[in-house]
Amino acid sequence: MYNQRMHALGNEPSAIRELFAYGLARKAEIGSDKVFDFSLGNPSIPAPAAVGRAIADIAELPPQDVHGYTPAQGLPAARDAIARVLNRRHATSYGPDDLYLTCGAAASLSICIAALANPGDEFIVISPYFPEYRVWIEHAGCSCIEVPARADDFQLDVPAIAGAITGRTAGVIVNSPNNPVGSVYPKGDLEALADELRMAQKRTGRDVYLLADEPYREIVYDGLEVPWVPSIYENTLVCYSYSKSLSLPGERIGYILVPPAVACARDVYAAIAGAGRALGFVCAPALLQRVIERCADEPSDVEAYRKNRNALYAGLTALGYECVEPQGAFYLWVRALEDDAEAFALRARAHELLIVPSDSFGAKGWVRIGYCVAPEVIAGSMSAFAELMAEYRG
Ligand code: PLP
Repeated sequence: MYNQRMHALGNEPSAIRELFAYGLARKAEIGSDKVFDFSLGNPSIPAPAAVGRAIADIAELPPQDVHGYTPAQGLPAARDAIARVLNRRHATSYGPDDLYLTCGAAASLSICIAALANPGDEFIVISPYFPEYRVWIEHAGCSCIEVPARADDFQLDVPAIAGAITGRTAGVIVNSPNNPVGSVYPKGDLEALADELRMAQKRTGRDVYLLADEPYREIVYDGLEVPWVPSIYENTLVCYSYSKSLSLPGERIGYILVPPAVACARDVYAAIAGAGRALGFVCAPALLQRVIERCADEPSDVEAYRKNRNALYAGLTALGYECVEPQGAFYLWVRALEDDAEAFALRARAHELLIVPSDSFGAKGWVRIGYCVAPEVIAGSMSAFAELMAEYRG
């Protein structure tokens, strides 16, 4: 006997994982330099040298300090270090007790969803969106309500979000810089959204939370500022991860911030601790907690991604592809050359181009190209993209 719903979830094909697995097999078959793998958001730049040094230092500590259990919500010193960094960057006054350390943004989000909602509630997501949102929302017994981003620029469609709020809405998930489209939401739009959420709270008599999913916060281009969402809307919880900013996706370390301005903040924090417990996400990796204590302020190396973005965007645009110029994160959103994005991605695969169809992200007719790759992959792929275009143009 097993749980049918979990069985179905485990068997459900994930286009991204499948493509990644195909890529590994294909590279072994024909050589890794002949396969242009844009499938995953696995950072190509190494973690900062300071991370390596911190790991070496920590390894010299008594073994229990390195490998032992920590408090469920994380080491006070690590939470204190993070709070200090946030306070300096955003002119805030958070303390260690406002933070709950997690195994990455995936844990941060699934904990927050479980902590805030009751079965039957709704969460609004902006499509296209990170596919796991739906899994976490539905696992909490809630409905995932998709509101499309604006068609012309993939920014927030605030009136449409406002129109989707009901008496069952527990929260809205915003992800900026965005995976998969690369947009960064400007302050004005977030303020307009905040006004709508406040009005909805008055109307429905329940708190509506904004979950700011921010693993790409530091990865932005052209000097753009990513607005600090809690300073715009008081009922904001921040779900953060060091997976992308410090290139540590396999290490599973991140946090949830519950700012004191959140309604009933201490109760929400207690619910987060409860959800962490119920989901088994207690005591994030101890070694990594100590690394973050030392490296929370390490800058992200955005330059390599900026160069990749420019090369890919310029190259594909010149070939005639319609692309959304990314403002942040490391994904390029490109219009498929036929209506069926899955069919298009399959034809791209025949040219050794591994790109993800937009259907995975709740949208039709586009593909996502992850450019957190070595620059040679982008340079080498251009002739394949040219052949693909030529094939469609007949
Ligand atoms: N949210 C978004 C938008 C992501 O792109 C990702 C990972 O790619 C996650 C959450 C999960 O991040 P983590 O690997 O830190 O769990």
